Amino acid sequence: MRVAIVGAGIAGLATAGLLARLGHEVVVVDGAPGPPPEGAALALQPNGLAVLDALGATAVLEPGSSRLRRLSVFDGVRRPIMTTTVPDFGPGLDHILVAARADVVAALEAVSPVRVRWGTTVGHASPGLLDVQRSHDLERGDARDTLAADLIIGADGASSTVRRCFGLGERRRGGRRYVRALIDRPSALAGAGEYWTRSGLAGILPCGASRTYVYATATQAIVDAHASGADLSGPLGRAHPVLAGVLPGFLSSERVLLNEVSRVDCASFVGPRVALVGDAAHAMAPNLGQGANSGLVDAAILALELAERDGLESALGRYDARRRSVRDVQRDADRLARASHARGPREVRNALARGLGRRSGEGVLRRAQQCDPSELRARLREVLD
Ligand SMILES: Cc1cc2nc3c(=O)[nH]c(=O)nc-3n(C[C@H](O)[C@H](O)[C@H](O)COP(=O)(O)OP(=O)(O)OC[C@H]3O[C@@H](n4cnc5c(N)ncnc54)[C@H](O)[C@@H]3O)c2cc1C
Repeated sequence: MRVAIVGAGIAGLATAGLLARLGHEVVVVDGAPGPPPEGAALALQPNGLAVLDALGATAVLEPGSSRLRRLSVFDGVRRPIMTTTVPDFGPGLDHILVAARADVVAALEAVSPVRVRWGTTVGHASPGLLDVQRSHDLERGDARDTLAADLIIGADGASSTVRRCFGLGERRRGGRRYVRALIDRPSALAGAGEYWTRSGLAGILPCGASRTYVYATATQAIVDAHASGADLSGPLGRAHPVLAGVLPGFLSSERVLLNEVSRVDCASFVGPRVALVGDAAHAMAPNLGQGANSGLVDAAILALELAERDGLESALGRYDARRRSVRDVQRDADRLARASHARGPREVRNALARGLGRRSGEGVLRRAQQCDPSELRARLREVLD
């Protein structure tokens, strides 16, 4: 089958690697000029690690990453709010791996036989056909082209063109903004965790032996400093004093990613000869660390259903039905976002209780996996062999 994947982020690349290994003829296009700069890190959870492991990508990733067995949340003066142990789903699936996003993309490209066509933007998608524009051919005047495929996969992020063209769902801007950066200095495991401060949340996580991953709610002062290209260490340290000891003397805004978070809700993740994966299907608040991990699960479930080889429409129908559970994760992530931005100790406690319901932190993390990661890895290994 000819498969055209729009978007070479984590969801698109994982889907490409899996479908090519199943024998499909896969093309991946992405409007960006090339792979992403280092930018930020991701916390990969057991569900995402299961998929990366089946593809052989975790071994490539491990050297520059850090394993965490526990996740701790503190208040702004370092008093613990909760500590959650990562559930043990079997060998290699009992921890969170903090890895640079660029390293995850590079590892997925390294284990995939498919080469990405960078600088190729999709302007319109219809069943079986993509209209594309190649930025490097603009001057030659033959930049527009069409691409035919039996299956189109929209892996083109929260503002997905594929989703819009097929009318599958909509994006709502969440209003909250976050900054993320990788700092060139080692971080001790002690003190690693997330801090719920007066200005929102701030996280400090080790990323390999020589880097620290920092993320935080962006206050207006941070947003303004980012827009003017000024140093960000000052505004970040003032908004979130727990970060002050980690930040360098000068932090250039070029090294800091600023994102407004959106939520995407789709009536269906599939349409005629089309499927959505990743943020294109279900962008969510980052507070459960499940955006990219859920995109990896999408890739795996889509590949497993297509491996049944009983017709495209039945496979897409089953994919859609099996991925509905991601909506619970979107809801849990929203609740945690509200709890982490509540003001004052009592409000935090109440918001947290409402957010978690009767479940423990471990229960929330277990449900966030949306599957048994060990079974998912075993099934993938079976079909990829
Ligand atoms: C502060 C923050 C922290 C986060 N932390 C985590 C975490 O710890 N763990 C986790 O799992 N997730 C986390 N996430 C979420 C995660 O970053 C995203 O869910 C994930 O990167 C989405 O991947 P994707 O492949 O679906 O989309 P994207 O990474 O958005 O990739 C989409 C690709 O499509 C391309 N594209 C778009 N439109 C077109 C077009 N028309 N034609 C061609 N190409 C196109 C783009 O260039 C891009 O390369 C976090 C998010 C934020 C904001």
